[in-house]
Amino acid sequence: MPELPEVEAVRKSLVELVVGKTIKDVFVGWPKIIKKPLEIEQFQDALQGQTILDINRRGKFLIFVLDDYALVSHLRMEGNYSVRSHDDPEEKHTHIVFKFVDGTELRYRDVRKFGTMHLFTKGMEHTELPLAKLGPEPFAAEFTQNYLKEKLMKTERMIKAVLLDQTIVTGLGNIYVDEVLFRSSIHPERIAKTLSDEEVALLREQAAATLEESIQAGGSSVNTYMNSRGESGTYQERLLVYGKKGEGCKKCGIPLQKIKVAGRGTHFCPECQK
Ligand SMILES: [Zn+2]
Repeated sequence: MPELPEVEAVRKSLVELVVGKTIKDVFVGWPKIIKKPLEIEQFQDALQGQTILDINRRGKFLIFVLDDYALVSHLRMEGNYSVRSHDDPEEKHTHIVFKFVDGTELRYRDVRKFGTMHLFTKGMEHTELPLAKLGPEPFAAEFTQNYLKEKLMKTERMIKAVLLDQTIVTGLGNIYVDEVLFRSSIHPERIAKTLSDEEVALLREQAAATLEESIQAGGSSVNTYMNSRGESGTYQERLLVYGKKGEGCKKCGIPLQKIKVAGRGTHFCPECQK
């Protein structure tokens, strides 16, 4: 599943490929991907003649900014965009096609069809679901020591579950939570409210640093993720614990372990994360 750095890589590649293009019409082969409006014709009519002015990102959501609308897209497990000429053969599992007046197309493929799209009148996208309940990103100004400390003190949950909760902090998924906890020397099963001020500060710092490093590397290509130019990132080469069960810890050398926490496979060092 793409996480924030991978979605950011997709965003950057799409900005180069489709900003400035005007939509002629939209093909919808799998209507269930469109969550809003529920009337597919309404979706298609609204998009006709709209130009893509910019593409933003909030957590793992892409936001296509159009003349009058904002299209919020979540790739979920395997959603993926590519830009092709209208006469290029269509790949299998292509479910939505934005056809541009210049003869090119933005194609959305999704083998498992879990991805979603919501269309809003521009400006309304942040006031309604799915964006309305998202917490700040780790590098946002609102993600302060006080903010995080307060959220952690209010819950009986384990720290891993809290960091995966997108209403508290958005953009950390399973891979990066494992990395951040290792880099902060915090056991994933620690009850969040037992963290010291120093540990909370370390978590904040490492959450931002880990995501920034991965963004710089174009994301990680765990699960064969690729950006919209078909390029993959390289951050998987720098992962310290994720997917490394049984390998020696980079800090102390003892074998890393994998357990289940909050229903998710969780990698950690039993020595460095007590
Ligand atoms: Zn260790």
